[in-house]
Amino acid sequence: MSFVTVKDQAVAVRLLRSITAKGRIPAGLMLWGPSGVGKRMAAMELAKALNCAAGGGDACDRCLSCRKAASGNHPDIIVVSPAGRTRIIKVDAVERMNETTVYRPFEGGRRIFIIEDADRMNEAAQNHFLKTLEEPASATVFVLVTANPRQLLPTIRSRCQPVRFGALRRETVAELLSARCGLSPEAALPIAALSQGQMGRALDLHESGRRDMVLSVIHRLSTGGDPLLLGEEFAAYLQTVERAVAEAVKRPAPGAGNGGGDVEDGEEDEFGEGNGGDLEKEQLEALIAGRMRLEMYEHIHLFQSWYRDELVCRAPGGAEHALNRDQLDRLAAGGGGDPAVKLEALDRAWLYLERNINRGRVFRDLFFALAV
Ligand SMILES: [Zn+2]
Repeated sequence: MSFVTVKDQAVAVRLLRSITAKGRIPAGLMLWGPSGVGKRMAAMELAKALNCAAGGGDACDRCLSCRKAASGNHPDIIVVSPAGRTRIIKVDAVERMNETTVYRPFEGGRRIFIIEDADRMNEAAQNHFLKTLEEPASATVFVLVTANPRQLLPTIRSRCQPVRFGALRRETVAELLSARCGLSPEAALPIAALSQGQMGRALDLHESGRRDMVLSVIHRLSTGGDPLLLGEEFAAYLQTVERAVAEAVKRPAPGAGNGGGDVEDGEEDEFGEGNGGDLEKEQLEALIAGRMRLEMYEHIHLFQSWYRDELVCRAPGGAEHALNRDQLDRLAAGGGGDPAVKLEALDRAWLYLERNINRGRVFRDLFFALAV
């Protein structure tokens, strides 16, 4: 392991190395950037490096401290994660951190709290955590990991040194996909290209049937398929997607199992705390609606990427910039009509979906605009 395992984040890693090597560690660090690009891994490597017996700005991976950290058994490296189905970090998680900081680090080094998805701290938790940051315990470092820094209090952000992470290169995502899912490089590259450098999105795209569905609709629309019938079919498909989303949301949250002596309680049921049944139903509906909004976004993104590729492929040598790299023959043939007009229709469709207009109607109208 060590910082070498953090791919494509040269600027962030250089900063983390220099912080570690100089030994002047801020009480709060905020690792921010898109999800699925290595922030959490970097936070863990930082925690290891800060406690490594060899010193030198990185983890040696051989000393006892490094080995304990790697196996998730380092008593001074503590991971705090959102709990329950609503994935919220509540004030009691912050209180437990504060209780721990009363004692000196067990191993005599530094105590590092890695707060995953720190923006999931609710208001009370954030206010409480702010006080913790204002009076930091000695030898304690809080590493906030977030893809949504704006959802943290400005006063928390200003007390943390920001470390910015960017998207991964598509080659990196493709390599990781091949290694993790056994995909051939040819199959991995388009998925990597469509995932905007985010490993989580790449895995999700690979595991879902989303791309096959979108490619099938596009193909049939460009070969005389009936937009009305395709709209009906797509609406039925979205219902199955929603049922799967609802099942996933209703499933009990698994224990986090993040290693490092988690403070969070994975078994905790967010809904078993005196909330009325109606509230539970409302919360579930809000969660499902939120997930479906992401699903809509990902589908629209796939349609957009296709017509963007059609446009790109019209330019000489443009094919090498296409995202749908496994579809170059079809892209070269072109789908008829003006891709720029279709992209405008997609922008409109997304606006309508954002306004909660019935998605069956939105996609049916969209398919009429995409048909030639
Ligand atoms: Zn070490």
